[in-house]
Order: sequence, then C-alpha cells, then structure tokens
Amino acid sequence: MARRRPHRPPPRDASHHPRALVIEMLGLEAMIVPTDDPDLPPLRALLRKKIARNPGVVVGDLVRYRFVEREEEDGPAAVIEAVEPRLNLLTRAGYQGRPQPVAANLDFIVIVCSPADPPLKPGLIDRYVAAAFHAGVQPVICLNKRDLDQDNEALDELQPYAHIDIPVVTTQATEGQPHDVAQLFDLLTGKRAVLVGHSGVGKSSIACALIPGLDRNIGEVSDYHGRGRHTTTTATLLPLPDGGELVDTPGIRAFGLFGVEPLALRLLYPEFNALADQCRFRTCTHVHEPACAVRTAVDNGDLDEGRYLRYLDLLDSLEHPGE
Ligand code: GDP
Ligand code: ZN
Repeated sequence: MARRRPHRPPPRDASHHPRALVIEMLGLEAMIVPTDDPDLPPLRALLRKKIARNPGVVVGDLVRYRFVEREEEDGPAAVIEAVEPRLNLLTRAGYQGRPQPVAANLDFIVIVCSPADPPLKPGLIDRYVAAAFHAGVQPVICLNKRDLDQDNEALDELQPYAHIDIPVVTTQATEGQPHDVAQLFDLLTGKRAVLVGHSGVGKSSIACALIPGLDRNIGEVSDYHGRGRHTTTTATLLPLPDGGELVDTPGIRAFGLFGVEPLALRLLYPEFNALADQCRFRTCTHVHEPACAVRTAVDNGDLDEGRYLRYLDLLDSLEHPGE
C-alpha cells in the first residue's frame, strides 16, 4: 500500500505572472518597470509580507507581479508575487551594522579612487575588491581626478589590479570644467553598476558626468521617477543615457566584508587561487605554511608584494576585529 504523503499546499508557482525590473525601493513598496510589455509605464507595487521577509526585494531584482484593484486612487497598482533567482546580491552595513541587502544582479562594482584629496588607499581598494568577489560581482577600478596624477604615479600603483584582469579606467569629473568620463561611460553602457569608494573621491561628480541633468545631490533625490519626494527610498536605479543603470544608494555608500570567514579570505584573491594547487597544503593560507607557492611567487617578484602584504593585514583585521 502506498504511504499517504502528509498534506502540504503546493508551492506557489508564479511563473505565469508577467515580469518586471525593480528600479526603486520604498519600504514595503517598490517601483517596477514591466519587462515583458515595454509599453507599460512604471508601476507602484506592494510586497507580500512573506516575500519582504524572505528573500526580500532590492533594486535590480527581476520579479513576477500581478495587477490589483487600487484601494486608494494613488495606491499601488500591483503586487509582487515572486522574486526570480539572483545572479548576485550587494549588501551593506545597515542599522547597528547588520547586513542590509541593497541591489541585485549587478555587472560591476566600480571602485572609485583618487590620486590626491583623498590620496590613493590601496588597503581600502583591496577590501572593496575582495567584497566584490565575495558578492560575486566583477570589480572595476576607476581612478578619478586624473588631473591630479600628472606623473602617472597613482595609475602605476594600480597596475597590479590590471594584471589580475580587473579593468582600470581613469576619469576626470570636475564640475564646471571640461570633464572626461568616456572610458567609464563605454564600459558601463548596457550594464548595471554601483559606484563605491572613500568619500570625496568624486562618486557624485562621476554620476553627474555620466548622466546629464542628474541633480548634484543624487543621494537626496528620489523624485527621479516623478512620484514626489519620499524619505524612505533605500536605493534607486538611475538609467544611463545609452542603456544600463547606476545604482544610487542614498547616504551610506560603504559596504564591507560581511560574513567572510578569515580562512576564506584567500579565496577572494584570484592571483592566489591561480597558484594555490601548487602549495603543499590544500588548506594553505599563504601566511606561514612551508612550501607555499604564493609566498614563493611574491619572493620571486611574480606576484605583487603590496597586495600580498595588505592581504596579511586584512586577514589579521578579520581575525581580530575591533583591534
Ligand atoms: P563623493 O564624496 O565621492 O561623491 O565626491 P564628490 O563627487 O562630492 O567630489 C568631491 C570633490 O572632488 C568635489 O569638490 C569635486 O568637485 C571634486 N572632484 C570631482 N572630480 C574631480 C576631478 O576629476 N578632478 C578634481 N581635481 N576634482 C574633482
Ligand atoms: Zn600557500
């Protein structure tokens, strides 16, 4: 006799609902752009509580939605029924340092830096590079304020990144002067990217140069999609002129190495991974183990010593947080 299965409701299948891209988050509501029907305007959509809890909804998500009767005249016109599987998810330090998801399905994390005001901080760049790989997103390095790097000193310092296939581009985004962001513009067109980096390196200036007409204080603008100001916007996708989007996260642009176990840090260094199977120990951390191929490569000058020494520092800071 066949055993009777315990009764379970069938899983909700949302695959018959149309699809939309989430372009703005406003608490329990989202602005979505229907992707199956390009003639439809952006819609305000409500999140089901269950979906808001897990998996949550962030900008860049592709969702399934259905239309609903409006309860108020300006109420939401749709409900989000499901979130399509994500390629990647960017997370930042939210309330009390708790990880807060910000954006999904990114092509690039653009790490903006400058040669001066503020000076180049390779340790911070390495953190962002590792965090990008941890999130499963390709990092790009953008050296802004090229006018302050006449002797190419900063650009030379960034060559080790180009050697591990991280694109390095330069920009000059000074306001009111002829600016040049063409290299970055070409790279980002048709892609979805977020600009990160130390305050003052020129992230807002670059966004304004890439997107003519963008308000100077992009972090404070939430009227971009024409719905009036709303204080709870957590992130917005800003369309680039020739396709693609920039993720704008008001206020906080810091994101860190959440949930990276110290012993897993080594895996976020592609140049170490390429050599790791030549280390004597499969679990080699490349710190003190004998017959370490990474240390040998550093000693021989085949790997950048700066990256390696900063890896040791970063590992130390993960092992001893708060020191
Ligand atoms: P953010 O904090 O990273 O968003 O940086 P901002 O965009 O606010 O820029 C910080 C300062 O750097 C501003 O005074 C900008 O005018 C200036 N700045 C931006 N891009 C350049 C550049 O290419 N060259 C120079 N010299 N200054 C720049
Ligand atoms: Zn090793």
